[in-house]
Amino acid sequence: MQFDTLIQGGTVVTAADTYKSDVGIKDGRIAAIAASLPADSARQVLSAAGCYVLPGGIDVHTHLDMPFGGTVSADDFESGTIAAAHGGTTTLIDFAIQGKGQTLRHAFDTWMAKADRKAAIDYAFHCIATDLPDARLEEMDDLVREGVSSFKLFMAYPGVLMLDDASIFKAMSRAAKNGALICMHAENGSAIDVIVQRALAEGKTAPKYHALTRPTTAEAEATSRAIALAEMAGAPVYIVHLSCNEALEKVREARDRGLPAYAETCPQYLYLSIENFDVPGFEGAKYVFTPPLREKWHQEKLWQGLASDHLQVVSTDHCPFCYKEQKELGKGDFTKIPNGGPGIEHRMSLVFSGGVHGKRFSVNRFVELVSTTPAKLFGLYPRKGAIAVGADADIVIFDPEKEETISAASHHMRVDYSMFEGIKVKGVPRQVLSAGRLIVDKGKFTGKAGSGRFLKRNTYSGV
Ligand SMILES: [Zn+2]
Repeated sequence: MQFDTLIQGGTVVTAADTYKSDVGIKDGRIAAIAASLPADSARQVLSAAGCYVLPGGIDVHTHLDMPFGGTVSADDFESGTIAAAHGGTTTLIDFAIQGKGQTLRHAFDTWMAKADRKAAIDYAFHCIATDLPDARLEEMDDLVREGVSSFKLFMAYPGVLMLDDASIFKAMSRAAKNGALICMHAENGSAIDVIVQRALAEGKTAPKYHALTRPTTAEAEATSRAIALAEMAGAPVYIVHLSCNEALEKVREARDRGLPAYAETCPQYLYLSIENFDVPGFEGAKYVFTPPLREKWHQEKLWQGLASDHLQVVSTDHCPFCYKEQKELGKGDFTKIPNGGPGIEHRMSLVFSGGVHGKRFSVNRFVELVSTTPAKLFGLYPRKGAIAVGADADIVIFDPEKEETISAASHHMRVDYSMFEGIKVKGVPRQVLSAGRLIVDKGKFTGKAGSGRFLKRNTYSGV
């Protein structure tokens, strides 16, 4: 067989296995996996000696080109997907947001237009439903048929994004029938809003009060309520950006009872803490996102959750706003700080460093957390998330020993600071392939904006 590309001499790592093998690629897919494939059978040969050969990363939680509080997230589908590729992520699932009074279809069309001719890697969408009268519920079925097989609902931000329990329950009941997965932003927004107003009335306006007005109990309560509503509806539920031990306990309890409850966390909750607000002046605004940073001890609980499968996925919630002019909109009032942080580029290295080098879990578990389980939960497996014959040739040649220091000076995200500035990681992508094309070669982007494809996802079928 004539291959387009041959990856030679690497160690293939999947969620299940680790073995030395060559990988042959043809027409954008993996065509052969064998102990030794002849080099003269390929037009291009990439040496993976000393490296892992991993399925490309899948980041199921990003916000590119997203309007928020009078501004727009700093990465669009071009800069954001290029930054993702540098970090070994070859698929992302972004969120199409329904405006009040608009159809779900309108949200989908709007975000499809944003990604069109810009995305450098493959992409899919969840739909954020903010306005779900009974007459709109069947629109969910239409989107599922279009490959938008998950919906994010909010229990926070009353008056803006929040749905009441009745609407959430109806949407979950619908999902139980149409095969969609409900993703939940779980925080008790009504109580939080009261705490926020009290803080402002007391003149507490600095960035850190964003964190101090969103207690862990508010996240745990909403997590528990989301799971209960899903149980009554007979639907699976996926808790997004879980940040604290109290919420993790709720997910663990549900899973111990055998419920299809899942949760992701993000690198910022594994590496950063409320201590990051101890910076001069307004700089704490760089760490304003929701849920907020917690006390440091939660980090180890979350790592343990990842190791023991109480947490199943690491995503980024990438939602970058520049410090200058964007974060600064909230000077004098933390409620006006655009919520979000940049993270799309460093997820794989941060999780590998802390997880595998940190001896918290195996390299196979790493692959499961950043690629295979996201693919399975969100209807992309085995086309994505696998090194297997017939799968898309989205592959990362990953150097497990190479060290790098994260810095805004060298990152590719279009944002003027890094949440992880100065953090040393060990384990970085050397080369990245998307559908068989080399798109990152030793730190250089060699792909093309617009070459990413929209992925129609299948319905939920468990892990
Ligand atoms: Zn988000």
